[in-house]
Amino acid sequence: MKIDRREFAGGLSALAATSSFANFACSQTAKNQPLFVATWNFGLPACKQSLETLLKTGSVLDAIEKGINVAEADVKVDSVGVGGAPNADGVVQLDACFMDGETHGAGSVAALENYPHPISVARRVMEKTKHVLLVGNGAAEFAKKQGFKTQELLTEEQRSKWQAWKAKQPVETSTPANHDTIALVGMDTNGHIAGGCSTSGLAYKMAGRVGDSPILGSGLYVDGEIGAAGATGIGENVMRYCGSFLIVELMRSGMEPEAACRATIERIAKHDKKSPADLHINFLAINKQGRWGAAGTDAGFEIAVVTADIARLEKSFLVK
Ligand code: ASP
Repeated sequence: MKIDRREFAGGLSALAATSSFANFACSQTAKNQPLFVATWNFGLPACKQSLETLLKTGSVLDAIEKGINVAEADVKVDSVGVGGAPNADGVVQLDACFMDGETHGAGSVAALENYPHPISVARRVMEKTKHVLLVGNGAAEFAKKQGFKTQELLTEEQRSKWQAWKAKQPVETSTPANHDTIALVGMDTNGHIAGGCSTSGLAYKMAGRVGDSPILGSGLYVDGEIGAAGATGIGENVMRYCGSFLIVELMRSGMEPEAACRATIERIAKHDKKSPADLHINFLAINKQGRWGAAGTDAGFEIAVVTADIARLEKSFLVK
């Protein structure tokens, strides 16, 4: 199950003065092997599906899409696809983006309602239109024309949580604990890199609010020559700095994936004059050499890594 970051709140504030990174001991290589890395524990079944799809179809683009579809279809994942958290008006609005490192092609959708697989619609935006980002009704109209099926996205459980939230006066704003995105990046044995991310965004967000996830360079960025990066956490703290783009550019200048993720958080924290622990941002990255890494500011952050030999979660630990 997903770790509720509220459980860590006490520990985090106690540690904040000396230690504010959830870091990873990973910067390993999956040489000459397919590699898939995703955010959170629900990224593990997604990455496994990605590997299976790659082995079956030979397409890393199919692999990314089908992997993310697993998290989108799982009602227990309360921050992605069906069963995702609604906005302040009780409506589930989904954001996603898809990027192909080989062609530098990309597609995104934002504030998409009633379609359970925004990542598939985002991929279709890339493949079937001259555009990159479609939002709201326009995105839904496009999904309909492309033959995607609609579905009720708001589960009874999410409806009652939302009603309880709404009944509280004054209404609480979204807290750092009630969101999470799947960002999934991968590479095949020919070095073809791709990635995607999908989310319902911050729970009880303002209607129309769009986070970092469908914004290229923020929630996701893929450069076929260098690598890929993805984000989860409070989107506003990522998108003001084009976090994923920055990580890829730092890798271009020679940094390892983990160091690039860390340096990006440090830069954001320094500029915002905040302790990293107050930012709630978490990144992962892979490079063209098949190395991966991650860094985050939430103690419960974890990533899933799947290669031909490995299928595991890597948990973060706090660094002093
Ligand atoms: N980044 C997402 C957003 O701000 C939420 C998350 O990943 O936790 O919409």
